[in-house]
Amino acid sequence: VGEAPKRRQTILLIEDEPDIVMGLSDALEFEGFRALCARTGAAGIDLTRSERPDCILLDLMLPDINGYHVCEAIRAHDPRVPLIMLTAKSQETDKIRGLEAGADDYVTKPFSIGELLARIRAIFRRIGRSVPALDEAFTIGAARVNPQKQLLVRHRQELVLTFYENELLKLLWERRGEPVSRDEILDKIWGVEAFPTNRTVDNFVAKLRKKIEANPAEPRHILTVYGTGYKLVP
Ligand code: CA
Repeated sequence: VGEAPKRRQTILLIEDEPDIVMGLSDALEFEGFRALCARTGAAGIDLTRSERPDCILLDLMLPDINGYHVCEAIRAHDPRVPLIMLTAKSQETDKIRGLEAGADDYVTKPFSIGELLARIRAIFRRIGRSVPALDEAFTIGAARVNPQKQLLVRHRQELVLTFYENELLKLLWERRGEPVSRDEILDKIWGVEAFPTNRTVDNFVAKLRKKIEANPAEPRHILTVYGTGYKLVP
């Protein structure tokens, strides 16, 4: 008798470099995940639709479709699935473009499989940990946030929050009125010390401000606490 067997969580890897595909899919299977691989952007988009993966790792340089476009196509179909971009580009502008296209996170090649796995484990730890009180809707300024649905409604406009946007907003809400340091945010949400960088937090705050603030350049709800981090004022 006992518990029903848990469905293995599926991770879709969209990547054309054979060494990375082999190394990563072996490591993911070893960790207990079901690893699906697509060698082209088109195949990746198809698998997203047919298999509904729990997490997507997306290479930026694919043989058929530019990774940013693949990301947008996936987001049009599934706005919520955690998506990490893998890329050789480390320029800040490329990173921001990836986040704009809907990526949750960014890993620059060459990366260590151990670090990437740590980050994937952190995502699933957060998905698995459900705090009922925090799953109730709350209001920040003109925005009504439903963290369970990863939705935000502001001036009758419905906006989807991506995985990390939602997690970051929940953490700031939980600690509203007090400063939360970037280090604590990285530790609690990304679950890995000094990886990704503090800039990641800043990029996600910028994305949240666009969705919540009347004027993102002069925020009134997600405030910068200089030298520390951020403070949410509902
Ligand atoms: Ca590639």
